Amino acid sequence: MSAAAERLALGLADLDRRELRRTRRVLDSPQGARVRLDGRTLVNFSSNDYLGLAADARLREAAIRAIDQYGTGAGASALVSGHLRVHHEAEERFAEFAGLPRALLFGNGYLANLGILAALGDRDAHVFSDALNHACLIDGARLSRAQVTVYPHRDLGALAEALAASKASVRIVATDAVFSMDGDVAPVPQLVELCERYDAWLVLDDAHGIGVLGATGRGTLEHFGARSSRIVYMATLGKALGGYGAFVAGDSRLVEWLVQRARTYIYSTALPPMAAAVAMRALEVVSEDPSPLRNLRARIGELRAALERIGFRGDITPTAIQPVILGTAPRALEASTRLAAQGFLVPAIRPPTVPDGTSRLRISLCAAHDASDIAALVSALAGDLAP
Ligand SMILES: *Cc1c(COP(=O)(O)O)cnc(C)c1O
Repeated sequence: MSAAAERLALGLADLDRRELRRTRRVLDSPQGARVRLDGRTLVNFSSNDYLGLAADARLREAAIRAIDQYGTGAGASALVSGHLRVHHEAEERFAEFAGLPRALLFGNGYLANLGILAALGDRDAHVFSDALNHACLIDGARLSRAQVTVYPHRDLGALAEALAASKASVRIVATDAVFSMDGDVAPVPQLVELCERYDAWLVLDDAHGIGVLGATGRGTLEHFGARSSRIVYMATLGKALGGYGAFVAGDSRLVEWLVQRARTYIYSTALPPMAAAVAMRALEVVSEDPSPLRNLRARIGELRAALERIGFRGDITPTAIQPVILGTAPRALEASTRLAAQGFLVPAIRPPTVPDGTSRLRISLCAAHDASDIAALVSALAGDLAP
């Protein structure tokens, strides 16, 4: 073995020793409330397909029609010739949906956050980042080469202090709107106020809020009635919206700047036209058919009530994500394995995705679950949940 390969072998052995090695499950079904794994059917509490749209017939049909009309590949980056009519229309529809002046379609959420932060920030900028932010906001801040201050999770006092002390020419506050591994919600109205007071951009990553929060599922901005030209709103298409890709929306000049300067937008092939068509159809479905959101809300309510009934010792979240923090990685893995044996797919989330000592089960709910799925899960989990 070469010395270079030897290092990797040692690194992998170390992951094994600490029970941090990840393996991929190979599913033999689409996403849904039930999935096929190793010849068994499991109730799926592991997906971000919150509205159950990932295999929805309406989206599948939109995809097939778009393939027939536009083919399978965009063929070039958007600024060369890959920006097709369907991409353009999808951007217009999303801007309307989000209630923001203009939107831009990115390859995915990870690329969008890298592109936003590196385009808005530079060496003279200062990025303020919540301690529990998603990896792509962290990496975007690094890529920007800005000074980075990580503030304690949702700590507005600490953030205000750091903003007040900053002498940077550009300030950017970046946060998950719904935290991906905790399911709690950022205090958006107060963040907007701080960003206005200290002349900062507010980059809001609504990967887990779009389709889920707000009276009509339009996301975290609708949930709070938040409005500001400082908001840089990012929403992924791969979660509740059942497809792939991401939108960034906000002030028209901001979006124009991203077109000119976001390198992950400029130097990457545009999304397959099918993905834009699926995005548009998903926005229509969310707008016209309230039943998936109604079902999801009912399941969230049932899980919350069940957790309260048994005296759950953790925080109960208002979103589709409910963590059950167990501590060590082996403990979380053991619980996940036991649940799988009982017919439930509930992933164990371990470092580095979450901080050391907070390994957990991450329960995610979906519109296609029914009430009995929730009840069965809670009784299977009773030992882990009780005080
Ligand atoms: C999933 C996720 C992303 C990345 O989005 P993709 O479209 O999957 O690349 C960004 N931010 C958060 C908070 C996420 O959970």
